[in-house]
Amino acid sequence: MTTHLSDSIDKLRGALRGRVLSPNDNGYDEARQIWNAMIDRRPAVIVQPADSADVAPTIKFARENTLEISVRGAGHNIAGNALCNDGVTIDFSNMKRVRVDAGKKIAYVEPGATLADFDGATQRHGLATPVGINSTTGIAGLTLGGGFGWLTRKYGLTIDNLVAAEVVTADGKKLRASEQDNAELFWALRGGGGNFGVVTQFEFALHPVGPEVLAGLIVFPFAQAKQVLTRYRQFAVSAPEDLSVWVVLRQAPPLPFLSQNVHGKEVVILPIFYAGKVAEGQKLIEQLRAFGNPHGEHIGAQPYTEWQKAFDPLLAPGARNYWKSHNFTELSDGALNSIIEYAGKLPSPQCEIFVGHIAGAANRVAPDAMAYAHRDAQFVMNVHGRWDTAAQDARCIEWARAFFKASAPYASAGAYVNFMTEEESGRVAAAYGSNYDRLVTLKKRYDPENVFHFNQNIKP
Ligand SMILES: Cc1cc2nc3c(=O)[nH]c(=O)nc-3n(C[C@H](O)[C@H](O)[C@H](O)COP(=O)(O)OP(=O)(O)OC[C@H]3O[C@@H](n4cnc5c(N)ncnc54)[C@H](O)[C@@H]3O)c2cc1C
Repeated sequence: MTTHLSDSIDKLRGALRGRVLSPNDNGYDEARQIWNAMIDRRPAVIVQPADSADVAPTIKFARENTLEISVRGAGHNIAGNALCNDGVTIDFSNMKRVRVDAGKKIAYVEPGATLADFDGATQRHGLATPVGINSTTGIAGLTLGGGFGWLTRKYGLTIDNLVAAEVVTADGKKLRASEQDNAELFWALRGGGGNFGVVTQFEFALHPVGPEVLAGLIVFPFAQAKQVLTRYRQFAVSAPEDLSVWVVLRQAPPLPFLSQNVHGKEVVILPIFYAGKVAEGQKLIEQLRAFGNPHGEHIGAQPYTEWQKAFDPLLAPGARNYWKSHNFTELSDGALNSIIEYAGKLPSPQCEIFVGHIAGAANRVAPDAMAYAHRDAQFVMNVHGRWDTAAQDARCIEWARAFFKASAPYASAGAYVNFMTEEESGRVAAAYGSNYDRLVTLKKRYDPENVFHFNQNIKP
C-alpha cells in the first residue's frame, strides 16, 4: 500500500463514526468472509458504517483514490459481489436495526439486517412481509433483486411491498426514493440490484401474519418422483394463495422423523406453508399425502419465525456453491423429466434442485411497473450445486450446468438476478427483458461512470 493511500485511510478513519479495516487490522479476515466459500477476495479497505452519514465520505474516498467499490448487505450473494479485490468494501454488518411502526404497519430497516433480524422485529407485532426462506440472507441484496418466499403467493415479491428507500448516489447525494420522491430511481431500485446507489434504509409495508402458521415437510421416495410431481403440478394450479407448496429433490438429510435407512437416499420433499388459519390449512393439505406413499412427514402449527429458519441448517455458510436458475410459466412434462433425470445423478450429498411456487399476487403487477420484469413467472427453479472441497468443483459445476442446459427449453425467458453467478453477466439484459433500455437510461442518469459495478451490472 502506498504512503499516500495509507494517509488517506487514516484521514477516512478520523472522519467516520464507523470502523475502517485494513488488511493488517484485527477483524479484517472475519469481515471478508461471505456465504459462498468459493469466493476469496481481499479489499484494500473494509468500511463498516455506524450510520448513513458514513456512506458519502466513503464513496468520495474511493473515487478520489480510484478504488473500486463493492457493497455488502449480509454477504449471501452467490456471485460474491459483496467483496472486491484491492478496492473498498462498504460492509453494513454494524447497521442492522429494524424499527417497526405497528400502527402504520411499516418497518424501517437498515441495510445490514438479515431476514432473521427483520422477521424477529416485525413478528413481535404479529406482522411480516414476503422475504426469503433462509434467515441469514440479507434484506438488502434480496430486496434490490426482487425477493420471494413463503408469503409471495399472497403478498407478492419483497419489492412489491417496498414503500421507500434512502439512497446515497455516486455523487454523494442522499435521496429519498418512493412513488412520490425520485420516482424513476424508485422504479429502478425495485429489481435493479445495487446499480443505482447505496441504500441506507428500506421502508416496507407489513401485513398481519401468524404468529403461528401451519408448516412442515412431507417426504416421498424418489422412485415415486414422476407421480408426485405430476400430481403436484395439477394441485398447484388451483391451490389457494394462502398455501405455498414447493418441491425439493435431494438426498434425505438425517431428519428425526425419517427412518435411518432413508437418510442419504434420494427423496422428493414437499415443503408446505399455509398463511391462513391452521385448521383450514390442515384440511387443504390432506390431499398432498395421497400424492404417493410418503416416507414420513413433520407438519404442524409453529411460530412463523421458526419456519423462516427451518432451512438454515442445510444452507449454512462455509460450503462451496454454484447455482443456476430458470423461471417457468408452467411445469411441462419435459421440465419434470429433466428435473427427475438430474436429481437422479446428484454429484454431492448437499446438491439439490428446488422449485419455488410464486404464482399469485406477484403476477398481478404489470411487467413495466418496476425494474423486475418477469411477472409471468409461476415457478422459480434453482439448481443448488453445493459441496465441501475444491476437488469436487469440476464435477459439481458440470452437473449444474448440464441440468441448466437440459431444462432450458421448458423455461420462460428471463432470469432472477439474485440467483445469477459471476460468469452470467451475459444474461443481465435478458434478466431485465423489456425494462433493460429504461434501466440503462437511468444508470446513465444516476451512475454515469459505473461506480457501482460489483453487481449484475447494467452498463451505462
Ligand atoms: C442460502 C440462500 C438462500 C436464498 N434464498 C432466497 C429466497 O428464498 N428468496 C430470494 O428471493 N432470494 C434468495 N436468495 C438469494 C438472495 O436474495 C441473494 O443472494 C441476495 O443478493 C442476498 O442479499 P445479501 O444482502 O445477503 O447479499 P450481499 O452479497 O451482501 O449483497 C448482494 C449485492 O446486493 C447489492 N447490495 C447489498 N446491499 C446493498 C446496499 N445497501 N445498497 C446497494 N446495493 C446493495 C450489492 O450489489 C451486493 O453485491 C438466497 C441466497 C442464499 C445464499
